Amino acid sequence: MPSALVFFNELSDAPSKAQRELLTLASRFDRATLAVASEVPQSAQDVVSGYGVDKLLVAPGNDDVFIDHALSALAAAVKQSEADVVLVANDNFNREIAARLAVRLDGAVITDAIDVSADLVVTKDELAGSYSAQAKATNGTLFVTVKPNSIEDAPQPQSQGQQLEVQPLDYEAAATPAIRIVATEAKAVSDRPKLTEARVVVAGGRGVNGDFGPVEDLADALAGAVGASRAATDAGWISHDAQIGQTGVTVSPQLFISAGISGAIQQKAGMQTSKCIIAINKDVDAPVFEIADFGIVGDLAKVLPQAAEEIRRRQA
Ligand SMILES: Cc1cc2nc3c(=O)[nH]c(=O)nc-3n(C[C@H](O)[C@H](O)[C@H](O)COP(=O)(O)OP(=O)(O)OC[C@H]3O[C@@H](n4cnc5c(N)ncnc54)[C@H](O)[C@@H]3O)c2cc1C
Repeated sequence: MPSALVFFNELSDAPSKAQRELLTLASRFDRATLAVASEVPQSAQDVVSGYGVDKLLVAPGNDDVFIDHALSALAAAVKQSEADVVLVANDNFNREIAARLAVRLDGAVITDAIDVSADLVVTKDELAGSYSAQAKATNGTLFVTVKPNSIEDAPQPQSQGQQLEVQPLDYEAAATPAIRIVATEAKAVSDRPKLTEARVVVAGGRGVNGDFGPVEDLADALAGAVGASRAATDAGWISHDAQIGQTGVTVSPQLFISAGISGAIQQKAGMQTSKCIIAINKDVDAPVFEIADFGIVGDLAKVLPQAAEEIRRRQA
């Protein structure tokens, strides 16, 4: 039976939901190894061991180099673990290292995966979620980038308290890195979940008319993230980080609430794989209703506060 390697560039005290989903996926395989390109705190090791990971390979971090360090660490981890499949996140950074290593090792890479079976059949979204395809690698090590919210986070009860075997990663640091970080600045941290990983996303468009308050309030009532259409980000009502769509981020939450967004094809490209879509629009003919599971024809300024109030009343 195949064995799996999960790779993280870094792992904080509390592994993120997307990281726990990857560990859950790895537990499906005969052997699961985790490699991290920086130091791993003990609290994170305790969480990892609860997912049935057999071995943890750790590379001492080097703040000065960026992608070169991750590439060297992952290449060494693939060699050391002898894994058949390598599971990484679906962000740009991991897609790049997966693709570069797959070429270097004469392997295969599949992106945007939503599942990997125990016999290495990968299910992935195609054409912005209009189709789902199943694919199998025909050559070498398989690198798979897995979309967040595709796998149910499920620690392995039988692994709780299990001793994790920790080994240093036997790798050679890149001698002359192509990129050197000269400065970093931490972004202001929001209490809300990360947009690409959130289980619930509430998104607003031109229809909010400059006021994202009701969108943010409903997102907070549902412990969700806030997203936006390009019309809203271009208007400067919210940061460009929140843009969902062809030229923004792709989200695939359990619940997506679209408010005052018409549903242009470029917008749908970023959200139509959401499990349940609720659309609020005052125009009954808005294209967003074509892909919505539930539609509310009405003024978002009235609908959103009522929804938030009712949710809080039921939570109390
Ligand atoms: C190459 C390219 C890439 C693009 N990439 C993206 C992208 O990544 N993401 C993206 O979003 N767009 C993208 N766009 C733009 C896209 O085509 C649309 O113009 C954009 O999505 C429209 O945003 P919107 O739905 O908020 O605005 P509109 O299309 O103006 O729709 C506003 C909607 O709000 C409704 N409304 C108004 N007031 C209310 C109210 N009070 N209550 C309820 N409903 C109300 C209206 O009925 C309308 O349906 C791209 C375009 C191009 C050409």
